[in-house]
Amino acid sequence: MPQLLVCDIDNTLTGSDICIRAFTRWHKREAALDFAVATGRSLHSALSILEQQNAPNPKVIISSVGTEIYFLQDNGVTYRRDDDWSRLIARGWNRQAIADAMEDIAAIVPQAPLEQRKYKLSYFAEGDTTVAARIRSNLRARGLAASVIHSHGRYLDILPVRASKGAAITYIRKLRALSEDAVFVAGDSGNDIEMLRTFPQSIIVANYSDALASRSDLAHSYVARRSHALGVIEGVAHFRQRASRPTLQ
Ligand SMILES: [Mg+2]
Repeated sequence: MPQLLVCDIDNTLTGSDICIRAFTRWHKREAALDFAVATGRSLHSALSILEQQNAPNPKVIISSVGTEIYFLQDNGVTYRRDDDWSRLIARGWNRQAIADAMEDIAAIVPQAPLEQRKYKLSYFAEGDTTVAARIRSNLRARGLAASVIHSHGRYLDILPVRASKGAAITYIRKLRALSEDAVFVAGDSGNDIEMLRTFPQSIIVANYSDALASRSDLAHSYVARRSHALGVIEGVAHFRQRASRPTLQ
């Protein structure tokens, strides 16, 4: 039965050369397991880090915090964007009006042009814990719908309400007619919480941050003993073993 593994990139898939080499060898033997990544990076930034780290080519790249989905083409090299997904998340998204509203917010700095996407506005907001709440109320007052995500106390992303890593994975799962128990997701930090919460077979690698392992909404997750990509392999093995165990009557 086909299965889908979706990994966050930074510090989940990457972060250790030894782990990624083991992952690449393991991945070669896993013909029925489709490998995908879900990241806050843009497509080009994701491709460049994957190449730099000698990671296998994912079948699917969910980039820019779930606002873009790319499928690997049959040539095994190039990726094509899924425009149906773009159309789906575009509903209710008014990028220009949101950009205008952001001019009212003090002490935020736009990120590099490459990080500004059709369905994502990105800023730096250093050390201000109330910034997300202020932006949400500002947008609400203007009747604008958007998700506001502040991560690592520094990065600020504004996205369409329908877009997230988890929503993008659910979209792919349905396209491929996979059940929820054919999907594994793996992450390490705060920007993976929504994705880890959405799926029953979720893996937290040992080198996690943002206190993921003590969150009650992630109590169903498997916390690996191993770090980085080796933790991902361990997590997949854990859930497979559990699924093959006979249930007690
Ligand atoms: Mg990460």
